[in-house]
Amino acid sequence: MNLPSYTCGPQEKPLLAMTIGAAFDQTVSRFPEREALVVRDQGLRYSWAQLGEAVDRCARAFIALGLQPGERLGIWSPNRAEWTIAQFASAKAGVILVNINPAYRLNELEYALKQSGCRWLICADTFKTSDYHAMLGELLPELETCAIGALQSHMLPELRGVISLGAQPAGGMLGWQQLQAMAEQVGPEQLRQCGEQLQFDEPINIQYTSGTTGFPKGATLSHYNILNNGYMVGESLGLSEHDRLVIPVPLYHCFGMVMGNLGCLTHGSTMIYPSAAFEPLAALQAVAEERASALYGVPTMFIAMLDHPERDGFDLSSLRTGIMAGATCPIEVMKRVINEMHMSEVQIAYGMTETSPVSTQTGPADDLERRVTSVGRTQPHLESKIVDEQGRIVPRGQIGELCTRGYSVMLGYWNNPEATREAIDGARWMHTGDLAVMDDEGYVKIVGRNKDMIIRGGENVYPREIEEFLFTHPAVADVQVIGVPDSKFGEEIVAWVKLHPGHEAQPEALREYCKGRIAHFKIPRHVKFVEDFPMTISGKVQKFRMREISVVELGINPH
Ligand code: AMP
Repeated sequence: MNLPSYTCGPQEKPLLAMTIGAAFDQTVSRFPEREALVVRDQGLRYSWAQLGEAVDRCARAFIALGLQPGERLGIWSPNRAEWTIAQFASAKAGVILVNINPAYRLNELEYALKQSGCRWLICADTFKTSDYHAMLGELLPELETCAIGALQSHMLPELRGVISLGAQPAGGMLGWQQLQAMAEQVGPEQLRQCGEQLQFDEPINIQYTSGTTGFPKGATLSHYNILNNGYMVGESLGLSEHDRLVIPVPLYHCFGMVMGNLGCLTHGSTMIYPSAAFEPLAALQAVAEERASALYGVPTMFIAMLDHPERDGFDLSSLRTGIMAGATCPIEVMKRVINEMHMSEVQIAYGMTETSPVSTQTGPADDLERRVTSVGRTQPHLESKIVDEQGRIVPRGQIGELCTRGYSVMLGYWNNPEATREAIDGARWMHTGDLAVMDDEGYVKIVGRNKDMIIRGGENVYPREIEEFLFTHPAVADVQVIGVPDSKFGEEIVAWVKLHPGHEAQPEALREYCKGRIAHFKIPRHVKFVEDFPMTISGKVQKFRMREISVVELGINPH
């Protein structure tokens, strides 16, 4: 009889039983002179001592603002130093940071702010096609005339005000520097006392994620969840205070703020941000000029760096390790990362936001074959099992749904007990919705998703959200959205649309309709007009059939 598909990770290293604030203070006192943070496009560099000062000042300012432990603070900005300062400062003040995707538009922002009941929002001013100030002016017309901190919005009744990271905050917004000056009202002793009251099992972060179905849900994570996950990811990479990690992945996602920031924090390593959002050239420059030892990315980012015409001009020989994660990593890309980018020890990680995120990871000793064909083995202190449709553990070698249990599993979805019950069962297993197979040595391979979520260029996209949006177009009678393989983005979005009788529309017109209303990465690349969808006898749309048809029609090579 085959072994069951169940493994438990090693447990030699104990978990960190402390808050993020306590871990931060420890690192500041252990490595005060070493470099903590480099933000290249802002021209900023901080030692751990300097970062410690900036974070403590910001935490005191949050307290002065009236933010209480357990209240929510949103952040809607691309990568920059203030993001990280706010992350650590909110953790020290016990304020729950709500990550908001910088590509979100008004509908999505409003949903996240309302659902989490944010008291304050930190926002950038503009970035690429996003004018954050203008969008907020539209959502909160009362802001311009209200006294700072006294916002009364009928759309967002719990929101008190907005903090702008821009050089010129719009009317009614509090500037970042003004906020920092408020720290004078709160002494260091008050911050220390606040920190002592905090418990590591308390929630400290909400990340909106696609989960399985429905609208984005706020995965609610504790200090213990994310601090330990960052720690264990860094342990696997062998990070130390001598490592310098380039983080081109977004901070609003756990890849940046947990695997990146907390991975570095727990090891005294240096966090290096090449640019506000991923740019292959900036990432390559950061590695070369900062003599980085490690680099993170989703597969599409590594592809863009490998294929960059100027790549040969950069000396990447300082690289040793890094992580490729977030989506299936093509074998050829993995080989090229090892051979052409000098990342001989690069590792693959697998997981999801709801599990802090990493559940399995390849190890430093794993051979190339393992690194290109699996997502590694169960992380320390965690358990994995693969189950059939009845929830029974399948034998090794058989496909089923991957489930994770342990310290990393989120507290639940914010204010959504029903969705939490659907995701985490009575025995605390998180059901990932991913189809996987485990071999005799415990290596896990992801073979697909039994949910319909699309991952485009590392961004999770919910078909239902796009479908519901397209439904608002007057000519659209019905719509189904699917993902098809794409060599550049991993997946591309295809919408199948049934028009109302007598209506006409062109694909381009529907795409135009989406622009500025939903995030750019959710806009369907292809639109196909149909009379009907492939259906089961019981009346369910067969998205897998739609995918097969679109793949053929679009001339896509599915492998
Ligand atoms: P997120 O919550 O944004 O971290 O997305 C989680 C989903 O990304 C998982 O449920 C998987 O479907 C997918 N995923 C993450 N890492 C990998 C990987 N290494 N290989 C394949 N799929 C992955």
